[in-house]
Amino acid sequence: MTYKIPFNKPYIIGSEIDYIKDAVERGQLSGNGYYTKKCQSYFEDRYGFKKCLLTHSGTAALEMAALLLNIQSGDEVILPSYTFVSTANAFILRGAKLRFADSEADHPNISVEEIERLVNDKTKAIVVVHYAGHAVDLDPILKLCNEKGVILIEDAAHAIDSTYKGRWLGGIGHLSAFSFHETKNIISGEGGMLVINDERFIERSEILWEKGTNRRAFERGEVAKYEWVDVGSSYLPSELTAAFLFAQLEHIEDIQKRRVEIWKNYHEAFSLISENYNFKLPVLKDYASVNGHFYYIVCQTTDIRKKLIDCLKNHGIMAVFHYQALHSSPYFSDKYIGPNLPNAIHFTECLLRLPSYYGLSGEDQDEVIDEAIKFII
Ligand SMILES: *Cc1c(COP(=O)(O)O)cnc(C)c1O
Repeated sequence: MTYKIPFNKPYIIGSEIDYIKDAVERGQLSGNGYYTKKCQSYFEDRYGFKKCLLTHSGTAALEMAALLLNIQSGDEVILPSYTFVSTANAFILRGAKLRFADSEADHPNISVEEIERLVNDKTKAIVVVHYAGHAVDLDPILKLCNEKGVILIEDAAHAIDSTYKGRWLGGIGHLSAFSFHETKNIISGEGGMLVINDERFIERSEILWEKGTNRRAFERGEVAKYEWVDVGSSYLPSELTAAFLFAQLEHIEDIQKRRVEIWKNYHEAFSLISENYNFKLPVLKDYASVNGHFYYIVCQTTDIRKKLIDCLKNHGIMAVFHYQALHSSPYFSDKYIGPNLPNAIHFTECLLRLPSYYGLSGEDQDEVIDEAIKFII
């Protein structure tokens, strides 16, 4: 079925094709060329990230982060259950023992008390996901990490251009991963980026990125030839992808402005009715900002959610649920030992995302709001 108003529609600026043409004419199609460097510098300058490496996906950036941890058997990684599979796969692939944490009661983000329950001498890393671009409360987690010598990794796939107490997300953890998948705010089809904020990881991250060679040091004239010096893999995006991404980056302020506006339109409209009708809206904590990644509501029951999805579908509107709590997934449920994680299950069953994309017209958004409100009241 095709929807009149889809959940997502990739926004194309138009100049992507010009930059791709330019990349072709420059003659280097493989990675780490002119546009890759331009994108990386853009992020380093705009957000003050210490070191950025483009990757071919957010998944690849998370896998690089996991490799950098040098996980040994018995090492544990704490992460939210309510997240995308890549957050978990990256670490289980390296042999880490996954310790799933519940969400907060009023927000899909990982709960700090849950982290405190799970942390122990074997904890190697804590991975947080800033759900829908809303910051996790990082200060108490950072304090814990410093006390215990644990690495903080931000899965910032949703979180571009968003802040925690005025600090840019992705710039706070020791390592962070972004995604430029076409469902995110800034896109390149598939694409991602590893951010290295802790200098201890910079040299090795470049080696892993260059398939386990010291090619970057060679390029800088620091060694006479480049050789196999560590493990590594293929993580670089091609210059064609980087050229596409750069065109998007040039318009980041315009894109963000419109996405935040769409988010606020939804929030204002639903705020008027949510209390009387027991629908929950995203809570906005005072330490977090809105980056307009997507808007969601939380229904009372999974049955009501299903009926609302169907009702919107009948009007040509696509609304979608989101993650399936990983601790109760087909792959992990028989490996999971621990308490029920009721909040993660609640968001699995009741959270619903509404159409959120740059090209959503005011008229179409009004229609989504009207139909949803008609259903609710
Ligand atoms: C999108 C996403 C990823 C993976 O990014 P890809 O670029 O699709 O590989 C990882 N974690 C979260 C939370 C995501 O939303």
